[in-house]
Amino acid sequence: MLVDAIVEVVRLAVTTIPEDTVEALRRAYKMEEDKIARFNFENILRAIEIGKGKSIPVCQDTGTMTFFVKAGVESPFLGEIEGAIVEAVRRATREVPLRPNAVDILSGKNSGDNTGNGVPIIHWELVDGDEVEIAVLPKGGGSENCSALAMLTPGEGWEGVRRFVVEQVKACGGKPCPPVIIGVGVGGGADYSLKLAKKALLRKVGERNPDERIAKIEGELLGEINALGIGPMGMGGKTTALDVKIEVAHRHPASFPVGLIIQCWANRRAFLRLKPNGGVEVWQ
Ligand code: SF4
Repeated sequence: MLVDAIVEVVRLAVTTIPEDTVEALRRAYKMEEDKIARFNFENILRAIEIGKGKSIPVCQDTGTMTFFVKAGVESPFLGEIEGAIVEAVRRATREVPLRPNAVDILSGKNSGDNTGNGVPIIHWELVDGDEVEIAVLPKGGGSENCSALAMLTPGEGWEGVRRFVVEQVKACGGKPCPPVIIGVGVGGGADYSLKLAKKALLRKVGERNPDERIAKIEGELLGEINALGIGPMGMGGKTTALDVKIEVAHRHPASFPVGLIIQCWANRRAFLRLKPNGGVEVWQ
């Protein structure tokens, strides 16, 4: 039962781009005057329509299956979740289908079912209560290859964050399949800043950080990135990024870690809530 529900949430994530992202793409398309940029938007919007209409993946790279689990400590299903996720990924690979994207780090041999050493990736968070929320974020290789970490000095501060993010987006150009969504994690440590950056991608396009100071930086960075003119698929245009999401944590006084995770136009995500009576709720 739980396996069935996770298969369906994975299917939803890879076949249906969330409405907030589709709306942002449509708005960007309307603003665009350049012929090639408009053509690229038309192709992206068409791929999204076909994916949803035919229930097939919107992109051939269905990504690495990444899960964020918020597990209520009183849930009767706690012990079953990890096994159910792994089994669901195997089944989804056959049934959706997903491209087998898990290869052995030494031999390069593909496991054939998107599972293997450390994958699917599962991030756990224990919370109060008896419900479990599972978020799935299928992450494509092209955009993941543009991820980066900067260990800034505290003196470089937020000006350093801005420079690092803009320079990395510029250096990547069309590689992450723009228009992109930018996830930035600031603080914690090296590993935690990257985790925050990926988690930031679960927020809706247009949803600002509740801290107004951070929200202001998100908006400013978005403007600066779009001024680069990289445009859809890197062929020029007004929209390079649909949004910038920043998540923060306290930092060591001597460190200023900045994790950057770039998500492509295929901004795939879906959520499942598992109630203690076995009932499930799915949304994007
Ligand atoms: S970066 Fe995204 S849109 Fe581009 S090929 Fe990879 S998954 Fe597909």
